[in-house]
Amino acid sequence: MVSRKVAVIGAGAAGLAASRELRREGHAVVVFERSDRVGGVWLYNSNVESDPLGLDPSRAIIHSSLYESLRTNLPREVMGFRDYPFVAQVKDGRDPRRYPHHSEVLHYLEDFANHFGLLELIQFETEVIYVGLLVEEEELKNNWVVRSKKKGEVSSSSVAHDVFDAVVVCCGHFTQPNIAEIPGIDAWPGKQLHSHSYRVPEPFSGQVVLVIGNKASAADISKEICTVAKEVHVASRSTNIIPTKMFGSNNVWHHSMVKCAHEDGTLAFLDGSLVCVDVIVHCTGYKYNFPFLDISNTVTVDDNRVGPLYKHIFPPKLAPGLSFIGIPLMALPIPTFELQSNWVAGVLSGRISLPSEDEMIEDVEAFYFQLKAAAIPKRFTHLLAKKQFDYSDWVSAESGCQPWEQWRKQMYKEGGKNFIARPETYRDEWEDEDLIVQVHETFSQYLL
Ligand code: FAD
Repeated sequence: MVSRKVAVIGAGAAGLAASRELRREGHAVVVFERSDRVGGVWLYNSNVESDPLGLDPSRAIIHSSLYESLRTNLPREVMGFRDYPFVAQVKDGRDPRRYPHHSEVLHYLEDFANHFGLLELIQFETEVIYVGLLVEEEELKNNWVVRSKKKGEVSSSSVAHDVFDAVVVCCGHFTQPNIAEIPGIDAWPGKQLHSHSYRVPEPFSGQVVLVIGNKASAADISKEICTVAKEVHVASRSTNIIPTKMFGSNNVWHHSMVKCAHEDGTLAFLDGSLVCVDVIVHCTGYKYNFPFLDISNTVTVDDNRVGPLYKHIFPPKLAPGLSFIGIPLMALPIPTFELQSNWVAGVLSGRISLPSEDEMIEDVEAFYFQLKAAAIPKRFTHLLAKKQFDYSDWVSAESGCQPWEQWRKQMYKEGGKNFIARPETYRDEWEDEDLIVQVHETFSQYLL
């Protein structure tokens, strides 16, 4: 097996998974992390960016998108690394709940990094500003140049220049806001922000607020804001209804999408209603963004499709030297990172073979063709949802790992059903006790 010198960009959950799998496989790993701690998105920051819509390219970036009260939207049993389960710990500063507060996930990731000795691989407060193929004497080499900058250093001479056999991109994709387009919004006088810049409800006291979106963040944020706001209106593309007051609430209404905004502060909805609104909170997702990658359009982001990528990981033209961990959406994050990382590590060492470049391109094109035939927009290319278990089974088979346990798959599905059945209380009430028993049988082998 070949040992390679590999750069990992980011020390969030994906970068930790990648660095562990790469080192286990015998590679020499250097992890670059912009922050001063591991954890990525789970490192809560009470500050927000200067532009609450994230449109100003010169703004200082705040990586995390967490709000102060956030609890996980998945049960902890399914969330963790397979051989290092995310079990409740009854000790000071820990949250033993099944859907714990975000600080508990950070503790867990820190524990993981310590347990596997990963901290020694990480260059903290070091931002990668450039990744490109090495060119020597006008010839393109099969190596990668990584340029990085230590926090606080401004002179160009302080930019470090390293060469690697491979680069694994683990920089996350919940930082660059995606904003709903609303005709007439430029003349609309109210305030706007993206959920990336939402932290606490107090600033919305007495206001009329529109929350756009229908996923977990929109549900949490609207529920929290309605405790202080005068009115909360929730609009989403998938809602096609007459405006209705939310069951059990006196100040929350559901609407279809906004049709247009007017100069007098009103917003018109497709359902025909008209509401005068003070603030819009866009809970409308995020955009993939790789500002440091210089790969001459070999991989592009087009309408939130990162492509072409073979199985959401390898760009056929640059494989296996460049790979991406964590691109899929609506797929169990950490267990997916673990499997993808194992595959990448095995491909780099020669334990696993990739198809030829032409075969990978053919596979990607066939996948795009299927999406188009099913009228699935490009922006949903990486959304796995119901397809995620086929994906995880495929990657596990390819990399020689055990497929995910049946209980994990079942518990994920039950969690989704519970969220729909009990949107207000799914984190504290459930009916999958039988699965919890199976979980503890599995976990007991790792907790000796
Ligand atoms: P991140 O955690 O974003 O880590 C990326 C790292 O890369 C960061 O540390 C960043 O500083 C670093 N980085 C970026 N660019 C550079 C650069 N140029 N140079 C150096 N370092 C760089 N998942 C769950 O499993 N359960 C949940 O309940 C859940 N809830 C969520 C709620 C919210 C609001 C959000 C936004 C996400 C949630 N997720 C949840 C998904 C979560 O994002 C993943 O679980 C996972 O933590 C993502 O890990 P990552 O490593 O891919 O990205």
